[in-house]
Amino acid sequence: MGGDVLLQAHGLTRRFGGLVAVDGVSLSLRRGQVHAVIGPNGAGKSTLTNLLSGDLAPTHGTLQLHGHDVTGASPEAIARRGLARSYQRTNIFAPLTVWDNVRLAAQARTPRAWAWWRRADQQADVNARAERALALARLSARRQRPAAALSHGEQRQLEIALALATEPQVLLLDEPLAGMGTAEAERVVELLAELKRDHAVMLVEHDMDAVFALADVLTVMVNGRVIASGTPAEIRADAAVQAAYLGE
Ligand code: ADP
Ligand code: MG
Repeated sequence: MGGDVLLQAHGLTRRFGGLVAVDGVSLSLRRGQVHAVIGPNGAGKSTLTNLLSGDLAPTHGTLQLHGHDVTGASPEAIARRGLARSYQRTNIFAPLTVWDNVRLAAQARTPRAWAWWRRADQQADVNARAERALALARLSARRQRPAAALSHGEQRQLEIALALATEPQVLLLDEPLAGMGTAEAERVVELLAELKRDHAVMLVEHDMDAVFALADVLTVMVNGRVIASGTPAEIRADAAVQAAYLGE
């Protein structure tokens, strides 16, 4: 069952010319759950992520956040309703320190101060938000490093910290473990397991050990379509999934 539904997509479809990259996908993300989306390259997972974050508008279908219709809304409007995402490509300012990167991301959410006596409050608020994001992403000890000096795995953690700095309720992660070594991947799996307590997490990931360790629900996409959705046990037992994807 899980917690409240925070995000609900109905029949999302996205065409690129003649290609239907995402074809009638419905899914819900609940607080306290990791919802993994898996499927071969080109299945439409990143396009789906872009549709949920508002980076792309759907050709058909609807999107709701906390029961509000946000179909076709801008990424900024969707972010204001409590959704954050990481990107497959990195989004970090390399010359800035870890702290400055996270602080900028936390600041981006704060409406412009209209009076000096509010500004002081807001600064404290921004710092507290940045501090929490760093701790959650397990980067507090790296705060003074330039982002460029972090390991690949730590840079991916920083991406997660940047998303968390806006204090989202819904978090979309597109291949957060890509290119990581085993130890790095294990560290991120641990932090995601902790994050799901308070968040609804959608995890697009190829690392099946991580997926089956974290996921409460899985959706399997092939050629833009959902071919199966269910618990990890149901997905493992699904013949169509075995044939199309897991059958190695
Ligand atoms: P995945 O993330 O599952 O690997 P994508 O969502 O990136 O899949 O891509 C799904 C399909 O849509 C692919 O065939 C890809 O080439 C195509 N596609 C993705 N983005 C665009 C775009 N901006 N313009 C045209 N085709 C695209
Ligand atoms: Mg992708």
